[in-house]
Amino acid sequence: MYIILLGAPGAGKGTQAAYVAQELNLIHIATGDLFRQAVEQGTELGMEAKSYMEKGILGPDEITIRMVLERISAPDGESGVIFDGFPRNLKQAEALDEALAQQDKAIDKVVYIKVSEEELLKRLSGRWICRNCQAPYNAINSPPKVWGKCDRCGGELYQRPDDTPPVIKQRLQVYFHETAPLIDFYTQAGKLLEVSGEGSIDEMGKRIITALGEGN
Ligand code: AMP
Repeated sequence: MYIILLGAPGAGKGTQAAYVAQELNLIHIATGDLFRQAVEQGTELGMEAKSYMEKGILGPDEITIRMVLERISAPDGESGVIFDGFPRNLKQAEALDEALAQQDKAIDKVVYIKVSEEELLKRLSGRWICRNCQAPYNAINSPPKVWGKCDRCGGELYQRPDDTPPVIKQRLQVYFHETAPLIDFYTQAGKLLEVSGEGSIDEMGKRIITALGEGN
C-alpha cells in the first residue's frame, strides 16, 4: 500500500503519518525529517538543505526525488509506504508515479488533511518538538507535563528554526502556490480522500484510518 498525506505545514501530517504507519504497518517517509537529519549530520546535502529550510522554500526537486526513490527501493520500502511532506509539487508527484509504475506499483490513496489557515498559524507558532523522538507538543493545546521536557522520553523540546513568523508565512505561501495544486491532480486521478484536520490528534487519526477503509 502506498499512501500520501497531503496538507499544509502545521496540518498534522507528521503526527498522523507516524500513527497510520504503525496501524497499517507501513514505512513512514518524511522528507522534512530526512533533510533535518542531513543538517544535524552536517553532510554536504545538509549544508545545502539548511539554507532552503531557513528561508521556508523547497529544496531542489532532483535531490529530493533521488532521496525518496533511494529510500523506497530499500527492501523494507517494498511492503508499503506512507509519504509525509512528499510530493510537494507536480514535478515530484509525476516522478513518484513514474518510479512506482516502473515497478508495477501505484499510489493507492492520498489523504488530504484540511485545516483552516488561522488554525495552521496557531499550531505552527506554538509548536515544540522533542529533539530525541520527534514527539510534537503545542504550548497552548497540548503542552508537555514538565516544561521543556518530552513526556514520552524525557528528551529536550525545541522550536524548529523555520517555525518563526516570517518563515511560517513563506512556507504557507509556498504550500498554497506549489503544493495545493496536487489536490486537483489527485482528485482527477480518483485518489483523493479529504479529512478534516480539526479536533484532537486521536480523533484525526481515527478519521484517517476510517477514510482509508481500514477502520470499523
Ligand atoms: P517539513 O518538515 O515537511 O515542513 O519540511 C521542512 C522543509 O524541508 C521545507 O520547508 C523544505 O525546505 C524542505 N522539504 C521537505 N520536503 C520537501 C520536498 N518534498 N521538496 C522540497 N523540499 C522539501
